[in-house]
Amino acid sequence: MSRFLASRLASLEAYVPGEQPQDQPYIKLNTNESPFPPSPGVIKAISQTETSRLNLYSDPESKRLVEALAAHYGVGADNVFVSNGSDDILNFCFWGFCQDGAVFPEISYGFYEVFANLHGVPFEKLPMNPDFSIDPLAYHNAGRAVVLANPNAQTGLALSLSAIEGIVRSNPAHVVVVDEAYVDFGGESAVELTKRYDNLIVAMTFSKSRSLAGARLGFAIGPAELIADLKKLQYSTNPYNLNRLTQLAGIAALEDQDYYDKASQRIQATRHRVRQALLQLGFTCTDSRSNFVLASSPRIAGGVLYQKLKERGILVRHFSDPRIENYVRITIGTDAQMDALLEAVRALLP
Ligand SMILES: *Cc1c(COP(=O)(O)O)cnc(C)c1O
Repeated sequence: MSRFLASRLASLEAYVPGEQPQDQPYIKLNTNESPFPPSPGVIKAISQTETSRLNLYSDPESKRLVEALAAHYGVGADNVFVSNGSDDILNFCFWGFCQDGAVFPEISYGFYEVFANLHGVPFEKLPMNPDFSIDPLAYHNAGRAVVLANPNAQTGLALSLSAIEGIVRSNPAHVVVVDEAYVDFGGESAVELTKRYDNLIVAMTFSKSRSLAGARLGFAIGPAELIADLKKLQYSTNPYNLNRLTQLAGIAALEDQDYYDKASQRIQATRHRVRQALLQLGFTCTDSRSNFVLASSPRIAGGVLYQKLKERGILVRHFSDPRIENYVRITIGTDAQMDALLEAVRALLP
């Protein structure tokens, strides 16, 4: 740290993303990326013609992309906000809507805590049941903003739409942010509720189910007034938040929805198969609705399993949080990748 950094930032602990090692090829099952490339339409859209226009700024409103998203999700264009990854949206929500503080589950997306600290938002992490399920009633009348990933990060467990609605309805004086990064792998989306409640923001991303993690494209759906607030924060930080190529990629991805639906079905089928295999090997494994599972074996510690798999060229994610330190989070890849994982796990178990 230099002597110039503002003192209020001195103690800030930054988010630590999953490893992206360049030293050797790995079977990468650690950052919940899609194992499938973007659809053919996306690859075509990022054309030489568009590349030759990179001397010009992109459309700060991302008008065509916003209209395509509005049509896709059945909302108005003024109900859609697009951003440089959905992390940007979460950042803005903590910055703009958490004046009275925030609550989120004790195990969830690690970035929530980082954003809360960045913006000086007091927060409380609410305990979960021993099986990692969340009691929705714990979020009723919270007296501050509520931030929930649904399906939840790290566990993959999902709350029902009626549970989400109960939380939104009981917190009329505060914003409820539902982070649906994984919704396309078997969750229930709360987008319809945004038409009836003025305090609900749904954040989504093209990074997981739409194979565009490297393009950085997130979006939020919500009531027009909340969306206008997000735009105000965007225009106060980075008006050209989406580059030209990403805007085109997003539009093309929406036109190829069939491709992504099939990819998501494949991932869900593979997830089912991998979970069954892990259960048979004596693992505890969450009943995930996302593109990963959280698994733990009484025969090998989470940190050891992570390290030994890495030595065999397979990357999974291990968290040092004591409640899940004996687990590893395994992204669902292709069938061939998961066969390699299961074979390695079988060989490693003592
Ligand atoms: C991956 C992820 C995000 C971030 O997505 P980007 O659009 O890549 O910034 C947000 N929330 C959760 C829960 C995620 O897992």
